[in-house]
Amino acid sequence: MGRLMLKGLLKFTASISIMMTAASAADISIIHAGRLLATPGGAVTAEQSIVVRDGEIAAIAPGYIDASAVDAGADDQVSLIDLKDSFVLPGLIDSHVHITSELGPRGKLSVVENSDADTAIIGARYAKRTLMAGFTTVRDVGARGDDAVFALRDGIERGDVVGPRLFASGHTISPTGGHGQRHGYRNDIFDVIKSSGVCNGVGDCRRAVREQVRRTADHIKLVSTGGVLSETAAGTGQQFFDDELEAIMDTAHAMGRKVTAHAHGADGINAALRAGVDSIEHGTFADNESFRLFKRNDAYLVPTVLAGVTVAEIASDPDSFFAPAVRDKAKLVGPQILEMTRRAHAAGVKIAFGTDTGVSKHGDNAREFLLLVEAGMTPMQAIRAATVVAAEHLDKDDIIGSIAPGKAADIVAVDGDPLADVTELQDIDFVMKGGVIYKDD
Ligand SMILES: [Zn+2]
Repeated sequence: MGRLMLKGLLKFTASISIMMTAASAADISIIHAGRLLATPGGAVTAEQSIVVRDGEIAAIAPGYIDASAVDAGADDQVSLIDLKDSFVLPGLIDSHVHITSELGPRGKLSVVENSDADTAIIGARYAKRTLMAGFTTVRDVGARGDDAVFALRDGIERGDVVGPRLFASGHTISPTGGHGQRHGYRNDIFDVIKSSGVCNGVGDCRRAVREQVRRTADHIKLVSTGGVLSETAAGTGQQFFDDELEAIMDTAHAMGRKVTAHAHGADGINAALRAGVDSIEHGTFADNESFRLFKRNDAYLVPTVLAGVTVAEIASDPDSFFAPAVRDKAKLVGPQILEMTRRAHAAGVKIAFGTDTGVSKHGDNAREFLLLVEAGMTPMQAIRAATVVAAEHLDKDDIIGSIAPGKAADIVAVDGDPLADVTELQDIDFVMKGGVIYKDD
């Protein structure tokens, strides 16, 4: 592409930004990318220049262009970023995290020790760690406390706190005694730690969904089956009844929110899919009927293989801090997820990258890539799951998921070739989010 075309495009962008932000000077970066995977699934190109203007991608041009090639005004800041020796790709997306907590022996106590303010500040530490690991967007699917996760999300958006773009569900929608409720405390403690997401019956579940929307939830998370880490021997089968599931979906969709369901047992996976859920988290015991329903509904699977591996490891430790009920479920569920992911991928189910980080350690999110490859994905497919596919899953593919003009400048880089060795993504050297550099090793 000629310099003229590029100039024309920039001029057009510039005239828009002048209209919108009259007097302010533009902030322009030119990234020289040695190898560029602009749209995972597409080609890798060599020696490219990415022009970033006020936090957005303005253009991609072949060759290494310099400041004179961009149409900068006298007051504009133009900086050159040298990634000639790097492999450059879009910022990574984790579709399943719990950003305000991390599993550990003191977790149960921290629920009654930490205030909401404590929780938000702890979340800020994890958010920074996540961004430094190359994850520029995460979806939180269940946070403790009342408004900590929303305060964290908004603080990051304002630039007060360093972290990834954060989309949050607030409290998880769960039946009384279900996986989304806390267990293993003295009875009167429940008055202190109660959740607005706990509901029973159609009317009450509509209330619970509306309550999360009022609290500014970006999406709705429900638990349709039992789960591993709840301290109750209630199995991993279906917990909400079909009419409750339908009420949750209809209410959320009517208010413009997508719904994702935590589900292990096939009965709960299939019931949630029949009720119209948009995605399934874990999906451990999914069967052929599940895969058929996934494809019929165009729903996504977020397998969280890393969570399965992590809980199985902790459960097999003789000194495990897991309560007996948790240990039994972890040993049953943990090892199944990778095998199920292999079957789901082979069946053609759409898989969005998600880790359940908070079960595993914050900042280790990229360990999931190798697990997805072990489950039969190519490195390219695994990277696509964490970029293009995850962005579509979040309904944010207009702003994230690839490096393309008009999208946010969320860009990461590594030394080696992640298509040859996907574990390269566990060592991210460069992180830009919204045009701001947060890491440059
Ligand atoms: Zn989770």
